[in-house]
Amino acid sequence: MSTFDVINPATEEVITSVPSLSLEETDAAIARAHAAFPSWRAVAPGDRARLLRRFAAIVDEHLEELAQLEVANAGHTISNARWEAGNVRDVLDYYAGAPERHTGLQIPVPGGINATFHEPLGVVGIIVPWNFPMPIAGWGFGPALAAGNTVVLKPAEITPLTAVRLGELALEAGIPEGVFQVLTGKGSVVGWRFVTHPSVAKVCFTGSTEVGTRIMAGCAEQVKKVTLELGGKSANVVFADADLELAAARAPYGVFDNAGQDCCARSRILVEASAFDRFMELLEPAVKGVVVGDPTSEVTEMGPLVSAAQREVVTSFVPDGAPIAFQGECPQGPGFWFPATVLAPVAPGDRAVEEEIFGPVVVVMPFRDEADAIRLANDTPYGLSGSIWSRDIGRALRTARGIDAGNLSVNSHSSVRYWTPFGGFKQSGIGRELGPDALNSFSDVKNVFISTED
Ligand code: NAP
Ligand code: MG
Repeated sequence: MSTFDVINPATEEVITSVPSLSLEETDAAIARAHAAFPSWRAVAPGDRARLLRRFAAIVDEHLEELAQLEVANAGHTISNARWEAGNVRDVLDYYAGAPERHTGLQIPVPGGINATFHEPLGVVGIIVPWNFPMPIAGWGFGPALAAGNTVVLKPAEITPLTAVRLGELALEAGIPEGVFQVLTGKGSVVGWRFVTHPSVAKVCFTGSTEVGTRIMAGCAEQVKKVTLELGGKSANVVFADADLELAAARAPYGVFDNAGQDCCARSRILVEASAFDRFMELLEPAVKGVVVGDPTSEVTEMGPLVSAAQREVVTSFVPDGAPIAFQGECPQGPGFWFPATVLAPVAPGDRAVEEEIFGPVVVVMPFRDEADAIRLANDTPYGLSGSIWSRDIGRALRTARGIDAGNLSVNSHSSVRYWTPFGGFKQSGIGRELGPDALNSFSDVKNVFISTED
């Protein structure tokens, strides 16, 4: 059997190796999921709810173990990893409430009664990237299972460990065999099979826009349903009337969290021209103050990048002669480290301004007024998230409404709450995860009319 070595990005040591499934093994798993579907959809709503609550409770009991696995496998800081494992628990708990509440409509019609039902789709294939292995997996399998689907899930090849453990915990919780399977292996083999296999009814993909485009095209051949959660180049818009001290203090955490490997990273800071110099003065100590180092330490705020390959990508955005305004420090020696880096001045058209970097590199640009801020924020094919800092709530709300993005925050960088919808405008994706909307994306509406005529 072919296997893949899993590496600790903070030490470059091999942790373990996991199977790299073949096409035949993938097909066999999809067949098991297909076979498990009729009995899973038939589980009474209250019983399915109970199983999901038990799954949540078992995840909670293993929170520390899951968090430590993620620190070792993905280099996440321990405090982030604990939040991420807790997020899986919370998502399961939230959607455990769904089987008993996913109600249809009774619509007035002449000659009878009319009711709608939310029917599960069948086998759902979930493809997960390496940047948030636990939360992104949970946002897929939580609502998919609650809606009555069976799930095959492919973690990123380089970060499979927490997903594999979650698959084991599901069985421990009593989720029946075949209902939730984690398949390790290559995207081009296992992931692509979700697209081409006729028994997979839906693909839920998070990752690069490049691969997402191919997934959508592949799904089109079978008119297969698809949810896409893709890249971002989000703006952090700072108006001169904002609490500049607070905006500058928080800006690093809006982009350097998870070492910038976050689709919601606010990787373009746009500052009103009249406040630009003062903001940069305040930003420098904030950036240099980010604690970078050993991810197992409770005080660490930023760990390494996930892989040598990702460090190469990020490095290419900061070539010799790049306009580095200031830069933090990072450990030397083993590990895929990269310092927090601020680029300014930059110009529209620069690679670092246009492309998703997925590393701890941010550009800072001035804007003239509200209209110019909105124009600049929208000057990207992406539209995932963004922040607006202002004391004028009217202006902040106008700007939020003007930015074409799915997840905006005012005087905050928060994007993700499991009970509110998450997803992208434009090339950042299609569909919504989390919140009440996600259930509908894992089910189809059926309309039934019953005649009451003689
Ligand atoms: P990626 O290639 O899009 O990978 C995401 C997932 O898709 C992984 O599980 C991957 O498997 C799988 N995959 C790859 N090719 C596939 C195919 N042909 N069919 C089905 N599944 C396939 O992303 P990446 O290479 O890891 O990262 C590249 C860039 O994408 C990053 O630098 C970043 O800009 C962006 N990205 C965005 C997000 C986000 O949350 N929006 C997440 C990750 C990356 P393997 O692991 O086996 O390749
Ligand atoms: Mg790739």
